[in-house]
Amino acid sequence: MTQSCATPLAIAIRPLFPTLESTEKVQPLCYLDTAATSQKPLSVIERMQDYYLNENSNVHRGAYQLSAQATQKYEQVREQVKNFIYAQQSQQIIFTHGTTEAINMVAWGIEPQITQGDIILVDTASHHANIVPWQQLAKRTGAEVKAIGLTTDSRFDLESYRQLLTLNPKVVAVPHITNALGTVNPVETIVELAKQVNAITLIDGAQAVAHMPLNVSELDCDFYVFSGHKMYGPTGVGILYGKTSQLEALQPLMTGGEMIKTVSFEETTFGALPNRLEAGTPPIAEVIGLGKAIEFIQNNLTAEHQAEEQALLQYLQAQLKQLNGIELYGAHESNIAVVAFNLLGEHHQDIGILLDQQNIAIRCGHHCAMPLMQHLNLKGCCRVSLGIYSTKADIDQFITALKAVQELFA
Ligand code: PLP
Repeated sequence: MTQSCATPLAIAIRPLFPTLESTEKVQPLCYLDTAATSQKPLSVIERMQDYYLNENSNVHRGAYQLSAQATQKYEQVREQVKNFIYAQQSQQIIFTHGTTEAINMVAWGIEPQITQGDIILVDTASHHANIVPWQQLAKRTGAEVKAIGLTTDSRFDLESYRQLLTLNPKVVAVPHITNALGTVNPVETIVELAKQVNAITLIDGAQAVAHMPLNVSELDCDFYVFSGHKMYGPTGVGILYGKTSQLEALQPLMTGGEMIKTVSFEETTFGALPNRLEAGTPPIAEVIGLGKAIEFIQNNLTAEHQAEEQALLQYLQAQLKQLNGIELYGAHESNIAVVAFNLLGEHHQDIGILLDQQNIAIRCGHHCAMPLMQHLNLKGCCRVSLGIYSTKADIDQFITALKAVQELFA
């Protein structure tokens, strides 16, 4: 039976997003690629513009008021992120340029703790950003990356994980929600089991923070990472959260200004957290924009809105399942915000191009998840992803357009 759903909260929020409201096109933009990057609310855009218009200066450096104010605003966001994810201290929040950089910082930073033969466990459904840095670490140290298996319905396989844990891995790195399928991994269990063998845990939350509340202290992982641009904030900023002792044990990936205590040509000593891991001028405007994005999520991503988004996903899944000649991948009711599919016999890129001609934006390809594609025996697929502004009208427009594409191919 087809489910129906209404999306009054998404409809109400849409006018806050200029890209979605643009009148330049005849048809409104049907944006179904939020998992790649979210659209930005006007509050974020205006706050960054205001920073450049009125407050621009470097942080932590100037002897003048403008710099002191910029520093204060920048540090306020660190406090805001701390509260947003329920970290214990603001020094546990490291500003990065995104998830990819944050994972690289950890994979580089723990190298002194890794020796030949050590095992690093990574979820098969990971984004490449959570695979390649670990492979590089393994190459440098003689460690070995092992993939945690997937079930036949493409979910995290706890049985495979339990078996691999008997090898006493040094690191366990998994996505909270997978980017290609929207699968929610059982991260609480994953972390709890990893702790029993003293493995260091990293959770890639790039796809999670914009869709669900997060409490890193309760989760008790060693590291949690995410990007600003997938949570209604700007590009060029991300977060590395870590337990203090774990962050202190990282060798800095980047060295230079701001992260030092003393420098001489004989010896350099590094400063304390968080500066120790933030070399160079940080993305100041982006951090300040991220603060606005967090405010936006806190004000708008209510339990009711989450339920609406979930009902919309189920509506989308149901609508797609009704089509002939379609194959859905790893689609479960418990997934979040993402559906992956192919039209049988057609190339995913062709589908994307034909939908684009109807002003519908979806993502087609391997989704930076080639090992997952291999597991699915695919070269690639189409991915539709939702955000806080996605409405039933978007889904209806998309389904109508997809039917038109099918007719074209018939
Ligand atoms: N991890 C996941 C699960 C992602 O979805 C992405 C981006 O799509 C990344 C990591 C990389 O994020 P970024 O490109 O913002 O560094």
